Amino acid sequence: MADDLCLLQIHAHPDDEASKGAGTSAKYAAEGIRNVLVCCTGGEEGDILNPAMDRPDVRADLAGVRMAELEASARAIGYDSVQMLGYRDSGMPDTEANARADNFANAPLDEAVERFVKIIRAERPQVIITYHEDRNWYPHPDHIRVWEISGPAFDAAGDPDRFPDAGEPWQPSKLYYVAWSMARVKALHAVYLDRGQESPFARWFEGENSMPDRDERFTTRIDVSEHLGARRAALLAHAKESAVVMHCLPAHRGEEITNDVLDGAASLVWRQVFHRRTAMIGVLRWIKEETS
Ligand SMILES: [Zn+2]
Repeated sequence: MADDLCLLQIHAHPDDEASKGAGTSAKYAAEGIRNVLVCCTGGEEGDILNPAMDRPDVRADLAGVRMAELEASARAIGYDSVQMLGYRDSGMPDTEANARADNFANAPLDEAVERFVKIIRAERPQVIITYHEDRNWYPHPDHIRVWEISGPAFDAAGDPDRFPDAGEPWQPSKLYYVAWSMARVKALHAVYLDRGQESPFARWFEGENSMPDRDERFTTRIDVSEHLGARRAALLAHAKESAVVMHCLPAHRGEEITNDVLDGAASLVWRQVFHRRTAMIGVLRWIKEETS
């Protein structure tokens, strides 16, 4: 039966699949469900944040390095298939990369939707996980674009009148939004402070830039506590960034802290913390019939 089931996640850059939803796909992969990763860009504008990787040979082939990291990460999570949407990283607003015509954010919306529809029709997932609409907290143009194409592609994939050259129509059943849980962030932040350590989450609570609390929107939580190793391996596969990026080293440390302090503690917070930490997954559910 599992042969017929497919979970598809769409992400903006190589490394997003490791920091968002990794535990979820690892869990379903372990249950024999086919997992498909759609990566929209090559991550060409990523910074080399790990000093050990800031070498001429890495700089000369950044795109190749990122693809190799993506493959290793996807393998660690258990993805069966990695599909590139084929766009260039859009960079952050007001950068040179952001003005390029061949980047994801500047590509015609319908063209990007059609590419995604083509993958959905070929892979036939029942469930798609994407980003939610409120991108103020992290307004990367590529992350915004992922959301912008996901709803239209979800709707068009099953409609024979839309994109007739993009394959046999296939209507997925559910679209989920992945997001951070404030409960998880607060719990981890508190543990760092309790230990007298600097919290990587301090800035998340600062004034205008504080992360909004949207936890009431979560409809679905997935216990991925048995799949943390896969998530960790996926993060570490992105060596170019993994020494310092918030998702990686602090989260990696956070994993140990969470295990020490919260392991065995009952309650939702435990599940949220675990779950958030692993996959940022208290997913926001959006069932097609519930929207208009
Ligand atoms: Zn990204």
